[in-house]
Amino acid sequence: MFDRASLATIRNDFMHNTGETHTVASHFLDEDEALPTQRFDAVVIGAGLGGLLSAAHLLQRGLRVALVERLPHSGGRFTAKTFHGVQVSTGAVHMVPFGSSGVLAHMLRRLRIPHHLLDADVFGSFHVHGKQYSSRGLLGVYKFLGPRQFLRFAYLGYLLFLRPLPAQEQQLPFDLWLERHINVKHNPQLVAFFASVARFALSLELHQVGTAEVARTTKHMLRFGAPAIIQGGCGELTSELERYVRAQGGKLLLSHEVQRILYRDGQVTGVRVRDKEHDAAFEIQAPLVVSDIGPRATNALLHNRKITQGEVLKQQGDDTQMREAVGLKVHILSDISLIPHRGIMYCLDTQRIAGMVQPTNSDPTLAPPGKHLLISHQVIQSNNIEEERALALADLRMLFGAAFDTHCRVLTMGTYRGEWPVNRIAQGEDILPQTALRGLYQVGDAVKPTGYLMVEGVAQSVNLFLDLLNELDHRDAESKPRRATVSPPSRLNALVWLWKAPGNGGKR
Ligand SMILES: Cc1cc2nc3c(=O)[nH]c(=O)nc-3n(C[C@H](O)[C@H](O)[C@H](O)COP(=O)(O)OP(=O)(O)OC[C@H]3O[C@@H](n4cnc5c(N)ncnc54)[C@H](O)[C@@H]3O)c2cc1C
Repeated sequence: MFDRASLATIRNDFMHNTGETHTVASHFLDEDEALPTQRFDAVVIGAGLGGLLSAAHLLQRGLRVALVERLPHSGGRFTAKTFHGVQVSTGAVHMVPFGSSGVLAHMLRRLRIPHHLLDADVFGSFHVHGKQYSSRGLLGVYKFLGPRQFLRFAYLGYLLFLRPLPAQEQQLPFDLWLERHINVKHNPQLVAFFASVARFALSLELHQVGTAEVARTTKHMLRFGAPAIIQGGCGELTSELERYVRAQGGKLLLSHEVQRILYRDGQVTGVRVRDKEHDAAFEIQAPLVVSDIGPRATNALLHNRKITQGEVLKQQGDDTQMREAVGLKVHILSDISLIPHRGIMYCLDTQRIAGMVQPTNSDPTLAPPGKHLLISHQVIQSNNIEEERALALADLRMLFGAAFDTHCRVLTMGTYRGEWPVNRIAQGEDILPQTALRGLYQVGDAVKPTGYLMVEGVAQSVNLFLDLLNELDHRDAESKPRRATVSPPSRLNALVWLWKAPGNGGKR
């Protein structure tokens, strides 16, 4: 096991793949005044889901861990605040993409974190031609595709999943791949189906995602199972993780900001931290640093710089910068139920909104008694945010007609971009957890491996990091290291989807 004793000799020869160069020969320590110092075995930067899961695992291995979070609360983009009695989330729509069979669920069971995931009871519903069509399984798309487009749909399924994807098609943007295999003008609902799933699940347009990534992600979605709503919402889950970290003796420093990552001779040595409440700086020395803040901010800390939201937004559109996924989310409180199931309603006839969920169908406590919480999500398609918001409202009126104005109230409407995006790096372009510095690793949604989306990708990024630690641990051993990464379940699972959504059906 990678334990406290082996930390002293930590050596990691992996090269980073962020495309950025770190000046690893020098360090900043000598320029500084002497600061009070604390010693730990590991420091985790950022108490988002990735940071909390990493800290929990390091504690499970018996390490002394400090988890540093600049905000006054943990959870990052995966928590919620109570607003008018509603669990209004900071990012996620309270949904876990692969549900109770997924990578995150597996990890929570491994850590024995109390949680309850309420799997969807349908493949989804589809708003087309002003009407909502419910579909228990994948074959239900026949209802709105009709026989001709359904045949094309089956043909595309064969091309994507039942034959090896030719090399020249792997990196092809998915819109071009569709154009290559079907007449997109004659199959508008079929194209809209793919577009709304990509927008809701990945926050990307079809031209922004490669065909191999679409194939892998879809295979995983079908094999792992139905998405789930977390009982109590995403805030409940990250609170449980925070409780676990504290109970295991981890030091959680809230309202503390890491200002600098320290290193000497190519080896990380710790971090410099500012206590925001008391405006006091100190150092944490540790041979292992795990960053949950994304490559851009991590790189800035290595160069003694701070990334600001304004700076990142200014760089948007610059092709040399890494591409994140951006979105706009609306929380709506309704007197009446507008979505009749526990899954996702994909919107094929809207201008912007890609999909919606009504998480109170799974857990009514997410809103006051008798009320329903709805959350819509869309990709931001221009820099005109006022227009994006207006289009969201126009879509909501189109989707729900007069009921929207008489029964619904918009609670919040938030954009997610810059340093607070939907995904720090777009699906399929992610980086690896290892860096050029020995002892410095990255986790989180910029490190999600191919085919693993959103928090499933965050959990799998932590597994990749744990695999690296296990490998280091077993360098001189004869036995093979235990693998933390979770593989997809049997292909046969995908067949179940044809007729009905697999999962626990929301049973408690
Ligand atoms: C609108 C929206 C909808 C989404 N919907 C879903 C969904 O339904 N399901 C799903 O699975 N995923 C969803 N996601 C994605 C999911 O929320 C993220 O993938 C996940 O929360 C990312 O976690 P993370 O730990 O990688 O990063 P973060 O949550 O961003 O955590 C990073 C933490 O680091 C802290 N930090 C930054 N800099 C410093 C510093 N210098 N010092 C100390 N702390 C620092 C930040 O404050 C933050 O708390 C959604 C995201 C958005 C925005």
